[in-house]
Amino acid sequence: MAVQEALFHCTCTQPFSRTRPPPAEAPLAQYEHHALSDLLFCEDCDAIRCNQCAACEVACYYCPNCLFEVPSASVRGEKNRCARNCFQCPQCDHSLSVVASDPDPSIPLSSAAASVGEPPYLLSCNFCGWDSKQIGMTFEKPTGLALQLQKAEEPSADLLEYDHIKDHFDPFLRRSQAEASGSGGIPSTSTAGTGSVSARLFQDPVGLAARYGLSGVTVGGSNRARLAAAEARTGLDELSPYSSLSPSRGGGRQGSSRDARKGKEPRREEDHVEEEAELLAALREMTDWETVAGVDRRWNSSWKPPVLSKDLRPLRTPLQAKLSKRCPTCLHILIKPEQKSNSVRFKIKLVAANYLPQITVYRRPPASIGSRLSTIGTTASRRSRTGGSGFSSGDSQTTDDEPLRPGRTYTYELSFVNPLYEPIHVRLAVARPGAHKLLAEGETAPPPTFAAHLPTSTFPVAAYAEDWEFEDAEPEEDEMIAEEQAATGAGGGDGRTSPSKRSRKNGAGIVERRMNRTTVAMDVAVARDAVGPLKASMLVTYVYQADDEPAPPPSPTKSPQKSGSAPEVKSFSFWTLIPLGTVLPAGAPTSQLFLDLLQVSPVRARPQLINEDSARALVRAWGVDKMHDVTVVDTYSGPGGLAKAYLELPNVKNVICIEDAFRYRPFLDRLKGEYGDRITTVERDPFTWEAYSEVEQQGLLDDVPTVGFERVHPNFFFSGQLPNTVFGQQLFVQLVSAIAGHMWYFQRGRMQMGFLGPSPLWNKLFAKPGDAHYHKLSVLLHPLAEIEQTEILSQLLPADHHFHRPRNDPGQTSAVKVTPRAKSLVKSYDALEYVTRHMFVSKATPWRKALGSIAPGAGNLVPRLIEQGVVDDDRLVNQLTLEDWIKIADTFDAWPFRPTTLFDEYAFESDRI
Ligand SMILES: [Zn+2]
Ligand SMILES: [Zn+2]
Ligand SMILES: [Zn+2]
Ligand SMILES: [Zn+2]
Repeated sequence: MAVQEALFHCTCTQPFSRTRPPPAEAPLAQYEHHALSDLLFCEDCDAIRCNQCAACEVACYYCPNCLFEVPSASVRGEKNRCARNCFQCPQCDHSLSVVASDPDPSIPLSSAAASVGEPPYLLSCNFCGWDSKQIGMTFEKPTGLALQLQKAEEPSADLLEYDHIKDHFDPFLRRSQAEASGSGGIPSTSTAGTGSVSARLFQDPVGLAARYGLSGVTVGGSNRARLAAAEARTGLDELSPYSSLSPSRGGGRQGSSRDARKGKEPRREEDHVEEEAELLAALREMTDWETVAGVDRRWNSSWKPPVLSKDLRPLRTPLQAKLSKRCPTCLHILIKPEQKSNSVRFKIKLVAANYLPQITVYRRPPASIGSRLSTIGTTASRRSRTGGSGFSSGDSQTTDDEPLRPGRTYTYELSFVNPLYEPIHVRLAVARPGAHKLLAEGETAPPPTFAAHLPTSTFPVAAYAEDWEFEDAEPEEDEMIAEEQAATGAGGGDGRTSPSKRSRKNGAGIVERRMNRTTVAMDVAVARDAVGPLKASMLVTYVYQADDEPAPPPSPTKSPQKSGSAPEVKSFSFWTLIPLGTVLPAGAPTSQLFLDLLQVSPVRARPQLINEDSARALVRAWGVDKMHDVTVVDTYSGPGGLAKAYLELPNVKNVICIEDAFRYRPFLDRLKGEYGDRITTVERDPFTWEAYSEVEQQGLLDDVPTVGFERVHPNFFFSGQLPNTVFGQQLFVQLVSAIAGHMWYFQRGRMQMGFLGPSPLWNKLFAKPGDAHYHKLSVLLHPLAEIEQTEILSQLLPADHHFHRPRNDPGQTSAVKVTPRAKSLVKSYDALEYVTRHMFVSKATPWRKALGSIAPGAGNLVPRLIEQGVVDDDRLVNQLTLEDWIKIADTFDAWPFRPTTLFDEYAFESDRI
């Protein structure tokens, strides 16, 4: 395991409590814990501050191109963009230069001298070669271009709309401001704490409640009361509904008063149509892709993105800002950059790394590899770092990222680096896993996923000193060690001491004390049923004797305290999150796919096969390896466990994956990197028919021949990993029933299909007459296809070794193969569907009675059916065999008085199969 950093908890999300740790599990843990390098420290509150709670304000605005500082007063007037000669290339974002029409070829285009020469002047990009002449933009003078461009921007739709919104809200804002100041509503800065900040954040948008008739359930009572009072006084809610200048759809807008004011012709419907027609013509004549502006280019023009590249305009360079940060509680400044735009220094910089010990975690390789080797490794890695101030981010000498195994015990080394000039004494406590959860009454805590033991929970860390001070001290230490080794006669050739020796020297549990770094050991026993990433919440308390010198040394290294008079013992506590590694279930495969997916959260109700051995066995059991030049359509591909198994077969030509879960995309992309053109991903929801037509529209099935239904299609296979929801069932039924009219992909022939799906679905499908769960599904699909369960050796069990799925998911997944019959066993699938749908409603009724109720007069069919051999007794609907059903359906279909519309439009939605 590489050396990792512990994360620190900021108390802005949850107040500090010694007994209750912050959540250690994703997703909350990620938001509440931060890397030490991201944190600030407020000396006055003696508290950690993170970027989420620190209040930001702009220290200065500047142009990143010319580094000119723009006074905040003019920022607004210049619309947040540089008013000097700074422009961005519309094609590549590189900065543009002003050049004359006859530039001196000896002068580089980017230099200022290039703009001396004959007018007209133009903007030119010396990166991509774009120039403004292409879009008919030239200038008479080489100066003041920004103003000209800004003038050109002025009537643009987004600015007009923005002004329109401003005009709309202005009176309202002014009135509410007046009201607030009148009633002394502005909180004084001294008392304005986090409370008021968050109160302002969470208050209702004024007027929302009244306008949309929200009740007190959603709007806070006090806010509602305040709102009502405000309304009563000033009639705040007189604000009329806002109507935008340019509607998002259509474009046929009535001329607004603003247009009239500006003396412009109202935009007419015909103009819009004409524009669209022009655009369409341009697109038709388009010969290369570059005619159309890239999406990233279009994002820059927020309102009405130009479609063609020739409509892109150069943009004035957007300004950037340097930010100061304040403590949200005491409002003291934590970070203040120097005002000058070209300076990277800070006037005030209270970063937490100067106050809190840096904590790194390292997991020792298992003892079997050899403890001697491992100590050398860690000591060496530690030696390569200077003990003092540096962060060791990106430290990854040890690349052994082996997962944890349940039931084993691991040893971790926790290193503490003291940034203070005083020695500190650290006390550690590891919270019981899951201790952050508040248990409901009667609820018992789940068993812990691990148990941590610290042989030494209190230890000293030496004070920080400048590097040269350590250099003086170091030889002594080494000499001492060498002496010690000589004395015991155990002098190693490398001159390093064994861990046991160090332990003897420093006491149990302390691995090493070196300069201002102390490393202690921690043993972690992983529970037998633990799976997934493990993180320990550790409470760190450090105590130090505050110096009685009147003024502590100037920043950056100062202890977190107000300068006290007497020597005092100060202490500070905080929660940290220690990454321990990821537990793999015992016996689980250690394939790359499996390991990588441990870090990805699964999609609910969608178990995805990721056991590569079983996937290989499965595609063989489905017989794909015996087909020729196969094209496979794989739906709900997930991370591509099945797809990979197909691609490994030499007779598989193409695999088309239909998958829209974004989290699995990197995995499918990886397959693409490996297998190139043989795999295509269609990012569509496989539940929609559009997904399947898109596969055809993209021409992905063009080389799949159409084969008559008398034989099984030798080149075409379909597979799917069904979600274990009602939608998964619906999809399965729809796909298989498409066989009935040779619809969908069955137009190309008798395509075989393989499905992974929830076992309850298969139980319904294979239920026998008389079974309690005998279901119309058992009757419906078998006449269309031979459906058999696919057995493979592993039986896909245990599920945790096979599927990427939510933890503790009780569902079971198994496989079936569907081979369409050359000839359906029923004459009309619709008739079968109709009679089963209507008769299974009352499945515990004698069939003769049930048949009579499906349509007026249907009872007359009973004698005819008995003639054909359907039993003449009080057998229940639930007990009819498939043959009986086929006879009923065929007889019903041939009956001249049957209802003409058999398909019930509403049945699909209401019927849960
Ligand atoms: Zn915070
Ligand atoms: Zn500029
Ligand atoms: Zn360019
Ligand atoms: Zn503060």
